[in-house]
Amino acid sequence: MTAYDPNNIFAKILRGEFPCYKVYEDDHVLAFLDIMPRSTGHTLVIPKAPARNIFDITAEDYGHVARGAHKIAAAAKTAFKADGMTIGQFSEASGGQVVFHLHMHVMPRHDDVALLPPTSRKEDPKVLEDHATKLIAALQAF
Ligand code: 5GP
Repeated sequence: MTAYDPNNIFAKILRGEFPCYKVYEDDHVLAFLDIMPRSTGHTLVIPKAPARNIFDITAEDYGHVARGAHKIAAAAKTAFKADGMTIGQFSEASGGQVVFHLHMHVMPRHDDVALLPPTSRKEDPKVLEDHATKLIAALQAF
């Protein structure tokens, strides 16, 4: 498998070299909004440990990411009045992965609203700011 590339965009976000709409952080994970959301409130949870995908992350770090996604999902259900939630993690290009730092997608769902195709539309920054504010507020309860 290709080695982890520390110059990937999410590694730059982790190092503070590239901005993001951060909604949650702890010792092990960072969560921020997807700037090309497939649903309202689409959030990415990433490990602070360098890992390309499911094939090189430790079970412990994967657990931290899953725990982060669990927390985000609970808050996003409230923040966006979601009817459901789609969680996903893609590994390698053939698995649909585009950014090669492991990430878990947390996508709030509403009845009869389909997911947009991946990377189909860059969201308005004002909308992302508003969604981040709502999600951060909802996270206080979790
Ligand atoms: P993948 O297909 O690798 O699982 O998903 C990568 C995700 O990262 C996509 O949903 C895409 O919209 C998102 N993405 C790509 N570049 C950026 C970026 O610079 N910032 C943020 N927040 N998300 C990004």
